[in-house]
Amino acid sequence: MNTNVDVNEIVQNLYEQIKNSEDKGSLASYIPELENVDSALFGVHISTIDNSNFGVGNCYDKFSIQSIVKVLSLIMAYDLLGEELWTRVKVEPSGTPFNSLIQLEVENGIPRNPFINAGALVIADVLLSNLKNPKEDFLNFVRNLSDSKDITYSSKIASSEKEFGYRNAALCNLIKSFGNIENEPSDVLDFYYDLCSLEMSCEELSNLFLFLANDGFTLTERKQILTRSQTKRINALMQTCGFYDESGDFAFKVGLPGKSGVGGGIVAVHPKQYAIAVWSSKLNAKGNSYKGMRFLEEFTTKTESSIF
Ligand code: GLU
Repeated sequence: MNTNVDVNEIVQNLYEQIKNSEDKGSLASYIPELENVDSALFGVHISTIDNSNFGVGNCYDKFSIQSIVKVLSLIMAYDLLGEELWTRVKVEPSGTPFNSLIQLEVENGIPRNPFINAGALVIADVLLSNLKNPKEDFLNFVRNLSDSKDITYSSKIASSEKEFGYRNAALCNLIKSFGNIENEPSDVLDFYYDLCSLEMSCEELSNLFLFLANDGFTLTERKQILTRSQTKRINALMQTCGFYDESGDFAFKVGLPGKSGVGGGIVAVHPKQYAIAVWSSKLNAKGNSYKGMRFLEEFTTKTESSIF
């Protein structure tokens, strides 16, 4: 990070500039409930390991974090299975859309990575097999990590997605046919939809993800969530696989590990410096927030804080 610049001022100025720029992209209509989100809402929040916080716009509004949750479910599953986890899911970028079935057939039902839907379904299956009360246990895990006790699932979003979730059902059944799903596909899908329906604000997301910038330790309590090596691995996965088939482009233009969701949220991490979350619900053709991508590209350029 260029220490001669005022980061908060840059956030504020970019926010104004991008908020009023071209209104491109479209809402994730395949989850009908997400179409009801006001696309004018736009929020940004940054949390730094020097314990400074700054947010603008709708940074305290909760939204559907969708695939951002895949980082959190992965962390919990990694903690439960350790390195054995990587026999169930690989760590390679897919280069295919988030809901693609194509690689599963030739790769024997082992998904390319935990952040595409196929991989996240396997991770949901791991949690179902290993937790006593998966839904409650996962929620408690997130609440404890974030110190925010009012984070919760949205049953409206989960059932809206389930109603039209034919592709996810196809993915889950295909993986089951290869023996890489242990539970009933319908149970895995229900749990997966609950996970994706989690609602959080930009402020909550940037605070929560800060431990990934802090060698795996929470900032205030110094609680170790991951070892340094595991932290490196999660950040590496976000860097290479966090944006579906736009992961290369995100590295190219923004240059940070991160994860997006079709609710329009993006969280990105600069190891040893900060975590930042942006939210604007209109998505580009690859399913990533249009304004979110634009904001982060300008932000890392102006603050000179890409990791490269
Ligand atoms: N729940 C969404 C799905 O399975 C998550 C997709 C995303 O955010 O990328 O399609």
